[in-house]
Amino acid sequence: MTDAASAPVKVNPNAPSAETVIDVEHYTDRLFSFSITRPPAFRFRSGEFVMIGLPAAEGQKKPVMRAYSIASPSWDDKLDFFSIKVADGPLTSRLQKIKPGDQVLLGKKSVGTLVLDALTPGKRLYMFSTGTGIAPFASLMRDPETYERYDKVILTHTCRQRAELSYGLRLTESLRDDPLVGEMIGDKLAHITSLTREEYPLKGRITTLIESGRLFEELGVPALDPATDRVMICGSMDMIKDTKALVETFGLVEGSNSNPGDFVVEKSFVG
Ligand SMILES: Cc1cc2nc3c(=O)[nH]c(=O)nc-3n(C[C@H](O)[C@H](O)[C@H](O)COP(=O)(O)OP(=O)(O)OC[C@H]3O[C@@H](n4cnc5c(N)ncnc54)[C@H](O)[C@@H]3O)c2cc1C
Repeated sequence: MTDAASAPVKVNPNAPSAETVIDVEHYTDRLFSFSITRPPAFRFRSGEFVMIGLPAAEGQKKPVMRAYSIASPSWDDKLDFFSIKVADGPLTSRLQKIKPGDQVLLGKKSVGTLVLDALTPGKRLYMFSTGTGIAPFASLMRDPETYERYDKVILTHTCRQRAELSYGLRLTESLRDDPLVGEMIGDKLAHITSLTREEYPLKGRITTLIESGRLFEELGVPALDPATDRVMICGSMDMIKDTKALVETFGLVEGSNSNPGDFVVEKSFVG
């Protein structure tokens, strides 16, 4: 007969860990960011994503887990995320209510193609993002290795409304005083913002700004060239499809972790 109290406890090595929410910030009724504790054994490369979630709600059997880009760099001792709020979304209808001290589940393994190692060496790194697709680049633009590898790092962020740009704008502004990358950045980082639904100095989708040449005029650089330029793309399925097709017309070739190339893509959500 086995004594229940002394029976060995089965631990699933792949089970997510419960992490503590450190802070939460709301930007609009659709967007918020939060940070959680990072377990010492959790390793990732800047730009990767991981599964995060919440324990099963009442009446549910399983936790709700979703893919999320890690928005903080790999050296940081906490993990940042930038999130959408979907009113009836299985995860974010609840996640948007988290407060410091609450628990969030964190998967064990991170993966992704928006990593520096998936690109061959180049002079300029373009990071094209829409909406929450800025998250992996929020990680990469805080990583010193990004500035060691490239002479110029260009982040573009396109949203519908002005308030949706705040997260990214605040982040780039704070980088100037960042103890680790502040001095390295100098004039290496350019942050280009554009809006599609409100009046703004730069109006239009990123594909429009590339096709018209307006993006390159703003930056004072020649158009995309596989000899010098590397590109990362993160946004909706449509944004990725259109931007990828456009980038290919300039002769850039898609890369991956196993076969680095001139550009890489990753969807920022499915649907
Ligand atoms: C590789 C990868 C990385 C991701 N990284 C992030 C991230 O960093 N931040 C984030 O908020 N989400 C991210 N997502 C989306 C995320 O996994 C969830 O879909 C999102 O959190 C909503 O979850 P939900 O359960 O509330 O609703 P879901 O049932 O997952 O989604 C409901 C609907 O909401 C819309 N939607 C979902 N996510 C978004 C979004 N990010 N922006 C606009 N519309 C959306 C879609 O139309 C979707 O069909 C990522 C997805 C993938 C595949």
